[in-house]
Amino acid sequence: MTEQVVIIGSGPAAHTAAIYAARANLQPLLFEGFLAGGIAAGGQLTTTTDVENFPGFPEGIMGPELCERFRAQSTRFGTRIFTETVNKVDLSRRPFRYWTDEQEGEARALIIATGATAKRDDIPGTRDSELWQKGVSACAVCDGALPMFRKKTLFVVGGGDSAMEEANFLSKFGSKVYIVHRRDELRASMIMQQRARANPKIEFLLSHRVLEVGGTNGVEWVKVQDQKTDQPRQIEAAGLFFAIGHVPNTRFLAGQLATDPQGYIVTTPGTTHTSVEGVFAAGDVQDKKYRQAITAAGTGCMAALEAEHFLASHHA
Ligand code: FAD
Ligand code: NDP
Repeated sequence: MTEQVVIIGSGPAAHTAAIYAARANLQPLLFEGFLAGGIAAGGQLTTTTDVENFPGFPEGIMGPELCERFRAQSTRFGTRIFTETVNKVDLSRRPFRYWTDEQEGEARALIIATGATAKRDDIPGTRDSELWQKGVSACAVCDGALPMFRKKTLFVVGGGDSAMEEANFLSKFGSKVYIVHRRDELRASMIMQQRARANPKIEFLLSHRVLEVGGTNGVEWVKVQDQKTDQPRQIEAAGLFFAIGHVPNTRFLAGQLATDPQGYIVTTPGTTHTSVEGVFAAGDVQDKKYRQAITAAGTGCMAALEAEHFLASHHA
């Protein structure tokens, strides 16, 4: 049987798409993945604690609980969910074909919402069993406003636009922000560099690397090393934020959709249309700028509405 809409992914983008598609009687089939991209079904929010900026939860909500609620709302309207990773697709003709380890099938429209994975460096003290999410984070916009970081010294690792942006953002809460970058030259655009350099709370540690992060129940200090002198230095701090890039989960597409040089799916601005008619992309897999649950959900809604329109206009 050919499905009307198949959704690949399981974060806010995928489930919002599923809710809209199901309510439009398109009987969506959703593949939520099995640790795809190293992330549990439910997406990146399964890896965090308090989510305080998703509307509707004035007291905040724990990330995993929010993911469960997304899923429950999808199934309530009849979305069929498989805990399987889509390994391969054939987008060369319609209906499109897809494969998991357990099954294969056909879909008239495809919504890709496979997200992205924030890169982390394997620094002692920052691992899951250590201080990850106890002061170590990969999302300043998400976690930076937490009380534990207020009026404290904070670290950002990276030298790109994200690092500049995150350091500026964190300077609103912290007393001081160090940007640790492994080279002398920053990768960030000139305007972003200038903004960070003009910020009196930000100090650059260029040609430095982080050796270790320490603390008992939260980050208490960060040890850095000047790579030119090999001189180590331990600095009292309450947080460390990785801003060393993301990896979009697009490998399974094997180049069948247009992507940018970093692998993000290219969509027509203001839409979720991809380079293949009938294939739509939503959430972080096509967004390297905002990367928020609410923006992912918003584009998930757009993808479902656009898929519905596509199916209606193609009499599928
Ligand atoms: P994702 O959440 O990335 O989910 C994609 C899912 O698809 C994953 O489960 C993945 O395993 C699955 N998948 C991948 N490939 C396949 C495949 N081939 N087949 C099947 N499934 C696949 N945003 C906020 O707004 N507020 C916050 O407080 C906040 N906190 C955050 C804290 C952390 C630690 C992180 C990492 C991010 C945080 N974010 C926050 C960002 C937010 O989580 C993301 O913007 C959002 O989850 C992106 O949603 P998405 O639907 O695009 O995909
Ligand atoms: P980038 O890939 O541009 O930069 C990543 C940075 O992290 C680089 O400086 C890199 O160092 C460093 N890095 C990578 N791996 C490691 C590691 N293992 N250890 C230490 N440092 C490491 O990623 P961004 O997320 O900054 O930006 C991604 C894209 O999004 C860019 O196109 C950027 O312009 C865009 N963006 C735009 C914004 C805006 O305009 N407001 C805001 C945020 C992002 P090195 O330079 O040595 O390789």
